[in-house]
Amino acid sequence: MRHREVAFFEGSFVPLAEANINVMTHAFNYGTAVFEGIRGYWNADDEELYLFRPREHFARLLQNASLLKMKLPYDADALCDLTAELARRNAYREDVYIRPLAYKTARQIGTKLSPGDDFTMFIVPMRDYVDTSRPLAVGVSSWRRVEDAAIPARGKICGAYVNSALAATEARDNGYDEAIVLNAAGKVAEGAAMNIFIARDGKLVTTPIYADILEGITRHTVVELARRELGVETEFRPIDRSELYIADEVFFCGTGAQIAAIGSVDRRPVANGQIGPLTRRLQALYGDVARGRVGRYHKWLLPCRLTARFLEGASCLTGVAD
Ligand code: PMP
Repeated sequence: MRHREVAFFEGSFVPLAEANINVMTHAFNYGTAVFEGIRGYWNADDEELYLFRPREHFARLLQNASLLKMKLPYDADALCDLTAELARRNAYREDVYIRPLAYKTARQIGTKLSPGDDFTMFIVPMRDYVDTSRPLAVGVSSWRRVEDAAIPARGKICGAYVNSALAATEARDNGYDEAIVLNAAGKVAEGAAMNIFIARDGKLVTTPIYADILEGITRHTVVELARRELGVETEFRPIDRSELYIADEVFFCGTGAQIAAIGSVDRRPVANGQIGPLTRRLQALYGDVARGRVGRYHKWLLPCRLTARFLEGASCLTGVAD
């Protein structure tokens, strides 16, 4: 039997095949939309689909929507509720990825940000987005990250993802798994769609928010888990390209990428080229937390089926990152 695929579109739940925008739509012509990616992890023991940090994703979406002068008729709590409902209606009993988008709806020629905004969302099954079981071979891109003064990378603006597409495609064309992108100042920014960490002398380092990065929710999660669970602090500072070559460990993190070890940069092995010990511990911890196996981090999860046991206590409606 074909799975019932349902999207949220123009204010209601409709079959995915009917969730189509008109070709004149401003967002389609000019890239004037902002989006999110939210993962849902299936926990077979609990018979539960846990959305990972949806409230933080929607808080970011609403901030980014305001960057494009959008006004949406939903707050973060309402968007969380809609997402749980979308998950229930699609009823996937496996890991999923949810793609919410806020977009400019005007059907007119002209780039200015005219009134007219809407919100849509769909859900697809997803396992690994990049292979997390082996160290990745990555290359530094010849493309530079979009600057804040051009298209804010923190905005998760659809049009800006041409930058990511160019970098990711170049990397694959050159035989790499993924790209690392430098910013206009020549310092490391992030991956095409993931943040980056290095480990040096037992400490983590990640690029700062002024390095033209997306302020990743997984990046925040890694910092918190490293500090609280492993006693490892993170330094936020610019990273030079050459530091990638001499680091003890390098890894990507992101909703899609999860925690993905980097085994070589520009064909130079990172340490011994294997998944590093800190990366491995963070991968395991992140997997357990996201799948709902660590009670103290249930505050980050929204259980979609809302069985009685979860009706009280931790939910994304109360749990804010601390
Ligand atoms: N950087 C970019 C450019 C991204 O698209 C993403 C994916 N959203 C990330 C970093 C990671 O962000 P997050 O952990 O919030 O998914």
